[in-house]
Amino acid sequence: MNSSKILEIKNLSVTFRTSVGEVPAVRGLDLDLKKGEIIAIVGESGSGKSATARAIMGLLENNGKIKSGMANFTYSRNGETVCCDLLSLSRKEIRKHINGRRIAMVFQDPMTSLDPTMTIGKQLTEGMVIHYKTPKKEAWRKASELLEMVGIHDAEKRMKNYPHQLSGGMRQRVVIAIALSCNPDILICDEPTTALDVTIQAKILDLIAGLQRKTGVSVIYITHDLGVVARVADYVAVMYAGRIVEKGTANEIFYHARHPYTWGLLSAMPSLDSSGELYVIPGSPPDLSGYKGGDPFADRNAYALNIDRRIDPPMFRITETHYAATWLLDPRAPKVSMPAELEVRIRHMRKEEEYGI
Ligand code: ADP
Ligand code: MG
Repeated sequence: MNSSKILEIKNLSVTFRTSVGEVPAVRGLDLDLKKGEIIAIVGESGSGKSATARAIMGLLENNGKIKSGMANFTYSRNGETVCCDLLSLSRKEIRKHINGRRIAMVFQDPMTSLDPTMTIGKQLTEGMVIHYKTPKKEAWRKASELLEMVGIHDAEKRMKNYPHQLSGGMRQRVVIAIALSCNPDILICDEPTTALDVTIQAKILDLIAGLQRKTGVSVIYITHDLGVVARVADYVAVMYAGRIVEKGTANEIFYHARHPYTWGLLSAMPSLDSSGELYVIPGSPPDLSGYKGGDPFADRNAYALNIDRRIDPPMFRITETHYAATWLLDPRAPKVSMPAELEVRIRHMRKEEEYGI
């Protein structure tokens, strides 16, 4: 795999103006996406996943503001390598040069991205005709190939359909096909399967992984469900209260997690053999509107140390690819390891993977 960085996000901070003051929605986020890689951004609702994606794409709501940061995007234009900071572009420039063509985004509800009054064929060909001046006939042929590629086999017939004539899973496939129609370098999927049932979710995720291999596109996959990305993500970033609290290769996050929040997410994952009640992380995500410092996870963290109340932990480096923001990694902290039940669970997961269950 080519390991050059295609997107390098540095120190991204986003706030929203609200009636109760400024809400820090994203706080100093660093994340790299390498060429041809699938990274997952995982975290409970409200952790700042969408705000991160929207900030990069110039799609923040009017009360949103980028306080700091860079998002260096490296791409090739007419055979030349170009690098630009997406956060320094105007919305207009992003819309004209980046959105859709170079970076495409798929949202949770396909109905909001599909036009109910236009046929699927028209919606699939529009981007190619507008951005690349592809002749209509050729665009139509490409569109039908794209539909086949996303697993819609009666493509010719479906092209003449309107969105309401398709099932939810099929609509999401169409949205993915549209996103890929302009050959983007990066595909950002923001909770694209949440509204779909678990079997269809798994199929869509496999589809995205397959498309990644076929087209070489780099993928940022956003979800609140750590379980769904286990099989497909190369790299995982766990977000909590606007920060990345742990990031690492899929192997590091699933088998060697170091942050108590990640332990909670792993324990809460449904598994094949889970019987009885599922573990839930106690409490709920904090309201950051009055944030005064300290680790926002402390109140829900059975392993919290006194220092957590005062100072938000820095990012500790565990390996070249694995980082976690927890004071437990400070050399002065007491030795703590993950809960015993979770260790058992992870051993099971590893066995399942080894035997390909
Ligand atoms: P996620 O996608 O992880 O569920 P979001 O990025 O949507 O989280 O939200 C992060 C935080 O920012 C939350 O506290 C949310 O309430 C707040 N927020 C998001 N969008 C807005 C907005 N347009 N106005 C005010 N607050 C917002
Ligand atoms: Mg979201």
